[in-house]
Amino acid sequence: MRNVVLSFCLLAVSSAALAQAPKVNINRAEVERIEKVLASDDMQGRRTFTPGIDKAAEFIAAEFKKSGIKPAGNEEYFQTFYMYKTGNLSGSVKVNGTEIPAAKIVAISTKKELSVDGSYDKIHIGAQDTFFTKYQRAAQATKNTIVTVDPAHERMFNSLRRRNSFTELANNLVFVLNVDAANEVSGTLKQEVEQQRLRNVVGMIPGKSKKDEIVIFSAHYDHLGIGKPNEAGDSIYNGANDDAAGTTAVMMLAYHYAKQKDNERTIVFAAFTAEEVGGYGSQYFSKQYDPAKIVAMFNIEMIGTESNWGKNSAYITGYEKSNMGEILKKNLVGTGFTFHPDPYPQMNLFYRSDNATLARLGVPAHTISTSKMDQEKYYHTQEDEFETLDIANMTEIIKSIAISATSIIKGTDTPSRVDTTQLR
Ligand SMILES: [Zn+2]
Repeated sequence: MRNVVLSFCLLAVSSAALAQAPKVNINRAEVERIEKVLASDDMQGRRTFTPGIDKAAEFIAAEFKKSGIKPAGNEEYFQTFYMYKTGNLSGSVKVNGTEIPAAKIVAISTKKELSVDGSYDKIHIGAQDTFFTKYQRAAQATKNTIVTVDPAHERMFNSLRRRNSFTELANNLVFVLNVDAANEVSGTLKQEVEQQRLRNVVGMIPGKSKKDEIVIFSAHYDHLGIGKPNEAGDSIYNGANDDAAGTTAVMMLAYHYAKQKDNERTIVFAAFTAEEVGGYGSQYFSKQYDPAKIVAMFNIEMIGTESNWGKNSAYITGYEKSNMGEILKKNLVGTGFTFHPDPYPQMNLFYRSDNATLARLGVPAHTISTSKMDQEKYYHTQEDEFETLDIANMTEIIKSIAISATSIIKGTDTPSRVDTTQLR
């Protein structure tokens, strides 16, 4: 008997709390409309550098405009940047008097002709060094740099060579394999360079009282494109869940907050390109902001299926890395929605999505998802289609994200920063 009374009490409490939960106008028909367009065959799987992804970008920009949020890109709602694909390197470089052929050189440069001379800075990657750390140092330098690589790192050198596609750097980098630290260098290299356009789609609503404090809602809109046909003859990877679902959420939240007009903090809405091919969209986006001004990032990935815990629940990656998850949970008390810590810590999801760049800089940047990563059967297949999504639940999840963010948008809660001292 007591149990029954108790559960009635709980019911009363939760419906009272439900009445206080902020009203969120996230409409199921709209979720369906947007999701259907993004996941349609017409978008050809939204692969980076294809006409399909351009269509998707234009659709998202048009919806952002319609919602009333302001443009926040370098070309209206588009945040345009470039990658460079290089090939056919020829010529040679003389290092300490020895001629090194192009086959043992990697040039990371947007120049078709590159003369290497004494003005270059010199970095040596010795057998005991960590290749990636030294590589990063070279890539972040502003001066042209020649990097001599010990043969112990031949494998890494070759993978750099195979990549042959990169975003623009401030300097020219020339990697030379199999030589000791350079004293004297000279030579000329030639290569083919193809410029490729990428576009994030970005909009914002300025904060009423805390303009300099930014809250980000983001998702990636690119996917895998067209591949081999499956048994049913379907060759299009529609990516309805991955991540048209998250992109739909970002667009719905743009509509929601534009109508609300009560955000004290500035809100930025971002649809990222090129996640599936290396996270280039979010990396470029992240560099456009001072991380110290970003109070929170809600990255949204695959919310179109039911989570481990059933309907009306989702998980937060890197839950223990900041107290943002606790704040979200607190805002959801009594609403019927629950957020949980990421149940797949061994998969390292926190560092595998578009939140990672900002998280590494200390920003409380987390990904919210419902995807059962250990058993999501349509993940990265041609069957990730609109029909496999639970649109009703997805609508509720988008609502829950808005409710969970309430005190952060208002400026009354500020999540703790991610500890970056542990990072290698
Ligand atoms: Zn994804």
